[in-house]
Formats: sequence, C-alpha cells, structure tokens
Amino acid sequence: MGTNGIGDEFNLIAKYFAPLAAGAPGALGLTDDAAIVDIPVGERLVAAVDALVAGVHFLVDDPPGDIARKIIRVNLSDLAAMGARPLGLLLAAVLPRNVSDDWMGPFAAGLKADIEKFHAPLIGGDTVAGDGPLTLSLTALGAVPAGRALTRGGALVGDEIYVTGTIGDGVLGLGVAKGVLKGLEPSQESYLLERYRLPRPRIDFGIRLLGHANAAIDISDGLIADLGHICECSGVGACLVAQAVPLSPAAQAAVGLDEGRFPNLLMGGDDYELLFTSAPENDVALRAIAAELAIDVTRIGSIKEGSGLEVEGGEGLGLNIADGGYRHFH
Ligand code: ADP
Ligand code: MG
Repeated sequence: MGTNGIGDEFNLIAKYFAPLAAGAPGALGLTDDAAIVDIPVGERLVAAVDALVAGVHFLVDDPPGDIARKIIRVNLSDLAAMGARPLGLLLAAVLPRNVSDDWMGPFAAGLKADIEKFHAPLIGGDTVAGDGPLTLSLTALGAVPAGRALTRGGALVGDEIYVTGTIGDGVLGLGVAKGVLKGLEPSQESYLLERYRLPRPRIDFGIRLLGHANAAIDISDGLIADLGHICECSGVGACLVAQAVPLSPAAQAAVGLDEGRFPNLLMGGDDYELLFTSAPENDVALRAIAAELAIDVTRIGSIKEGSGLEVEGGEGLGLNIADGGYRHFH
C-alpha cells in the first residue's frame, strides 16, 4: 500500500480481515501462509470463484457493504447449485493505493454480516495495491457428500422443471439502478433494487435437493439461457410454460406497464434462484421441503427428448435465443 493510504497490507489484514476468520481455527487468524481446511470423511471439496471489477460489475460509488455482500452471495449461489454447504471463503483484493477507512470499514462490515449469515468464514486471501480499478476475486469452498453433487448434466426425459423464488427481478432491479425503468411505486423500485444488489443464495434448499433433483443450476445468465445450459449438458430438450414462470408483484406491475418487458424477464440474468429438474414422483417431497424452508418453488415445464427449448405460450413474445436452440411452440 502507498504512503498516502491507510497503512501497509499487514495493517489492513490485521484490522479488517483477521476478525472475519474467527469462526475457522484452520485460518490461523490470517497470520500464516495458507489455511488448513477439514474435509469430512466421505465428502468432496466444491470450489467456485468470481471476480468483480469496479466500473464493470459495480459502480465505484456503490455502497461498499453491498459490494462485499454481493461477491459473497454470487459465489455461495454457485455452491448452492451444486448442493454444497459452505466451508470458507478466500478473498483477493486489489485496492486503490488511497483506499480509506471510510471505504474499508463498511466493506468489512458487509463481509462480516454475510459471513455470519451464511456460516462461511474468511479463511484467507491476498491484499495488494493497484493503480487500476478496485478489483475483487472471491473463492468459495464447500463440501458435498461424495458422488452426490448436483450438476447441470443429470436431467432426464420426463423430469419436471422447477425454479425457486421469482424470475426477472434481477434484470428489473438493474433497470431501476440505471434509471431506465420508470413508473413503478417507490416500494416496488426498492424491492427490485434490493433483489439486484443482494441476491439470496439458496444454500439450505440446494442441500435438501440432494437425492431429489437430477440437475441444477443457479440463474445468473437468465432463465432461458440457463435452462439451455441444463439441456446441453444433459443431452435433452425442454418445454418451458411461459405463463407458469413466477413473477413478483413488482415484476407483474412492470409487465402491466409494458407487456413487451415479459420476454426480458425470461432472458435477463442476475436472479440467483435455483433452476432444477426432478422426477415427477418427487413433487410432494419437494413441496414439503420448500414449505419447511419457507421458499416458493414453482413448476415451469418439463424435460423432453431431443434438444433445444420450446416455449409454450412463447409465440408472439419475440423471444430471441442466440444459439438457435429455441423453437416456438403453442
Ligand atoms: P503471503 O505473503 O504468503 O502471500 P500475505 O501477507 O499476503 O501472505 O497474507 C498473510 C495472511 O493474510 C495469509 O493467511 C492470507 O491468506 C491472509 N490474507 C491476506 N489478504 C487477505 C484478504 N484480503 N482476505 C483474507 N485474508 C487475507
Ligand atoms: Mg500474499
């Protein structure tokens, strides 16, 4: 760190990051060269990493606590999609030389809030000063019983397709953030903004899907694209029922103002809900798990032989699927 900053990296680590390792003895208080992670017998390590760059994935003046929580949450969402439970996080931070306590304090507080909420301690990382934009890379480690991880490739013909929560709030929230989505109530705007800024990784539900789901993915690219990923990896096709896709009241209001928005909700990204497939006989069990965890789960279609995506009720929606895997169907 430079002389006009808030001290060298050792001060920063001790002041802001070491307290976040308290829950993990193997992190050695962030005073050693690496962390030691216990993998319970019969389990496998699951690892995911994401990078966020100021000006690309967030704005430099976004609240630092929100930036911290978002990078944790998008990674934990990847673990959730594998059915893994979090073990720990590693954070590489390239910070501007003049980073201030005013920025680091809320950033570390945001990390702390979600580290505690999701029981995922900070077990290591790297802190360097850079002249480029603020850049963060977070690695999440998790564990799953050997041979049981959920993947994109396990969908079977005849499976039902489900999603958790509601679809399209992420892309609408981005519209609110950019100031291009207008005409909603202030409460609807703030709901959508929050959905965009603070995704809700479905960790507990992902773990409970082990043994019930045949394939799973978290929705980051958009419902249509991510269902396409499941189809490609599984060597199957899918029929999606457009009218069955669950929308929040705020998203319904946005579509009420302009029906032409509906396709964007199916194609937009950043929802971080789970999209999964399961044999029809699991439906009752799935609904019981969803009720126990107070999560909405909605059946939105089924897996078919062949390849590509049919959208029932998709005619006239102008859906545009880039890879050509899409066919109209009504
Ligand atoms: P090294 O020189 O071996 O790379 P460092 O001085 O970079 O070690 O890091 C010292 C300790 O602090 C290590 O345990 C490292 O994992 C931890 N650490 C450094 N930066 C961070 C960070 N941003 N978040 C969490 N842990 C960090
Ligand atoms: Mg280092």
